[in-house]
Amino acid sequence: MTELDRLPQTEPAPSGVAVFNIQRCSIHDGPGIRTTVFIKGCPLRCDWCHNPESLDGSPEVAINKRQCTSCGACIEACPESNGDRPARGPDWDDGNCRRCGACAEVCPGEARELIGEARAVAELVAEIERDRPFFDASGGGVTFSGGEPLCYPTFLTGCLEACRERGLHTAVDTSGFASKKVVRDISRLADVLLYDIKHMDSEVHKKHTGVDNQPILDNLRTLSDENATVWIRFPLIPGFNDGDDNLDAMASFVGGLPNGYPIFVLPYHPTGIDKHRRLGKRPPDVDYRSPSDDDLVAVVERLRSHGLEVHTGGAYE
Ligand code: SF4
Ligand code: SF4
Repeated sequence: MTELDRLPQTEPAPSGVAVFNIQRCSIHDGPGIRTTVFIKGCPLRCDWCHNPESLDGSPEVAINKRQCTSCGACIEACPESNGDRPARGPDWDDGNCRRCGACAEVCPGEARELIGEARAVAELVAEIERDRPFFDASGGGVTFSGGEPLCYPTFLTGCLEACRERGLHTAVDTSGFASKKVVRDISRLADVLLYDIKHMDSEVHKKHTGVDNQPILDNLRTLSDENATVWIRFPLIPGFNDGDDNLDAMASFVGGLPNGYPIFVLPYHPTGIDKHRRLGKRPPDVDYRSPSDDDLVAVVERLRSHGLEVHTGGAYE
């Protein structure tokens, strides 16, 4: 079994994939003002992930114990309740939770929240299109993010084709961990790929993300060979990938691609810990910190010293 065999082999029914957030007026996910669609499901398990709700491809119930008033409404509403508790409780899940969200709908204190809702292509694109005035005024558009949107090539293809028919600019934010065919097909439909390089050492990459980086780097080389439009994104995480050896290896790899791609350095922010707890997941056993301004400047200067085009943040300054 290869690394790529770990990707979902079948997509959800045509009723859609689970979207857990639609963020409007984003200025960090590609050119202009953008609407970013966050899709659930990811084959990587990065130990700094600040979107733990993106990992599982299905809707999930998040619980904020501090807001629970013990009213019992969730027990009444839960079709899998055993009489004194719903199937998904604050500290446990008995395996019977069908992720229907009935408990969240009746919870008066917003202690329970259903994360993720199945969205179909047509209604999702119609919703995105409402933001056209912002796109037209700024040169923006829609960004499909996650999770990993390339987990759902049929759904994503439908979205990208529908956007193209409507003249909406599209970006796909990806780890690049997908089959070569999927990466190529999607690159031909999207206006730009926002493509992560997390670490150049395959063993380190595997230890901290759960997957080998070789398919990711191979796919990036293929995209460059085919003149695809790509913005490389480098999540800067002190103690993980800010070492000179890694920066020089990345600069050498990117500088050696047939197409000169810009690198966007994204400073890491530790915001996901409480989200892990609310989902009943154990927070990762790591303690990464945000880079200081000096850290950021040093990394940018090091990469630029190799003659590369380097920016900070998710778009041109
Ligand atoms: S999501 Fe549905 S099955 Fe799960 S605890 Fe809530 S009501 Fe029960
Ligand atoms: S419905 Fe909400 S507030 Fe009431 S017991 Fe359930 S979780 Fe607590």
